[in-house]
Amino acid sequence: MTVTQTTAPQYRNYINGEWKDAASGNTVASLNPANRHDVVGIVPNSGREDLDAAVAAANAAAKAWSRMAGPARGQLLYKAANILESRLDDIAATMTREMGKTFGEAKGETARGVALLRYYAGEGSRKIGDVIPASDASGLMFTIRVPLGVVGVITPWNFPVAIPMWKIAPALAYGNTVVWKPATETAVTAAKLAEVFHEAGFPPGVVNLVIGSGSVVGQGIAEHPGIHGISFTGSNPVGKRISQAALARGAKYQLEMGGKNPVIVARDADLDLAVNATISGAFRSTGQKCTATSRVIVEKDIYPAFREKLLEKTRTLRIGDGLDESTWLGPCASESQMETVLSYIQKGVEEGATLLCGGRRLTEGRLADGFFVEPTVFENVTPDMAIFREEIFGPVIALVQAENLEEAIRLANDSEYGLSASIFTRDIGNVLAFIRDMDAGLVRVNEETAGVELQAPFGGMKQSSSHSREQGTAAIEFYTSVKTVFIKG
Ligand code: NAP
Ligand code: MG
Repeated sequence: MTVTQTTAPQYRNYINGEWKDAASGNTVASLNPANRHDVVGIVPNSGREDLDAAVAAANAAAKAWSRMAGPARGQLLYKAANILESRLDDIAATMTREMGKTFGEAKGETARGVALLRYYAGEGSRKIGDVIPASDASGLMFTIRVPLGVVGVITPWNFPVAIPMWKIAPALAYGNTVVWKPATETAVTAAKLAEVFHEAGFPPGVVNLVIGSGSVVGQGIAEHPGIHGISFTGSNPVGKRISQAALARGAKYQLEMGGKNPVIVARDADLDLAVNATISGAFRSTGQKCTATSRVIVEKDIYPAFREKLLEKTRTLRIGDGLDESTWLGPCASESQMETVLSYIQKGVEEGATLLCGGRRLTEGRLADGFFVEPTVFENVTPDMAIFREEIFGPVIALVQAENLEEAIRLANDSEYGLSASIFTRDIGNVLAFIRDMDAGLVRVNEETAGVELQAPFGGMKQSSSHSREQGTAAIEFYTSVKTVFIKG
């Protein structure tokens, strides 16, 4: 929608160290999903000419930035970390207003953003190569990791601080310049992060923000000859398109995409632990985490007891505005996200699954102006059903019974995705079988499926990623190229 008149604050693109409207003057409104009448801000709806300007600035800045000493680049990242930390409450509250997750979760995520900046600030002082014995005894052979040049960063709305930081911070630390296109849904949060980089004193053109639609600015990044690497997190169909465009022009790319993450509850599991972790994994952030639990596969002996405890606890969850301290579960991030979730719930019923609890949009009282869906549990779900196979990205659990652990692992692997997976058991044989046989990039024992540590590699198997990894020491693999040097003595 193009907004002509409003009192909401205006935000701009950040290009070459300056705040700029879209050249066309077009804007869109960013709305609060807990109250659609609350306009969080007005943001540019940029076009290709805005992207071109950002790419030109990023290329112009690239050489000097790559030649700056790594520790000096790290110092700027430390500064950005301190500024972000000083604004933690404001940025977290903006995130909650823009996409609905609870204020507590938003603060935790913003703190993660600070920690990511500090981790990669430190990387500026760590090794960027190896010495390798040369066959010629008088020679010296070694590798140097060099930046790609300009990196395009395309991010989703579900972690509007952490995901951009785990891409932008390493890109910068290793000497790349950045053109960032955030999800339009969380563009105000993005503009506030760009302010952090601006105030930290990064040279003009090193970090650029272009706010606009995926089909114009996002696709533009994928196709732009001035962009040398693309890091994307989002849905599978979009990821596929980006990789095809990148491949066609020989650009490096990295994709992190969807999941349909299973929890296995073995017959010897600590049931309270398994129930609490299932609820947290499935319903925190309203189920809108790529690592959210969506299938729960339970050994049949303990199925009735698990089901009873799960339903009892699910019915107690408080739904409301994420800024209200008593809220446990916020709204879906947007109206279209809510519609998608409701359509999957309807499909589940039509395909013959049994709806045990939830399933409705909530519209009582103050919830009427938001996009609230009850936490929902289905049983009698079979592998042919859409709610077993497709990523819903909402607060919906599919319960499945398994005869034994072997069948449970087979069902868990019956998915095109392989991002994260958990098992609840105290049996070491079960643990070892799960670690060996589960096809997922993140396998967790007696812990929920969601949860990522910034110092460890993160990424999925099968259709969940481009088989690359992000975060920790894995980041250097994507954001640099290896130059092998031989010097004849
Ligand atoms: P999405 O629709 O794929 O959007 C992600 C980003 O891509 C947004 O910035 C979007 O821009 C942009 N985009 C849309 N169309 C594009 C195109 N044709 N070319 C280039 N860019 C384009 O995904 P989403 O709905 O925002 O996010 C939810 C998805 O992200 C889920 O599938 C979830 O599993 C996945 N996710 C994965 C991870 C992970 O690490 N594996 C983490 C979080 C989320 P606009 O929205 O502004 O149009
Ligand atoms: Mg919004």
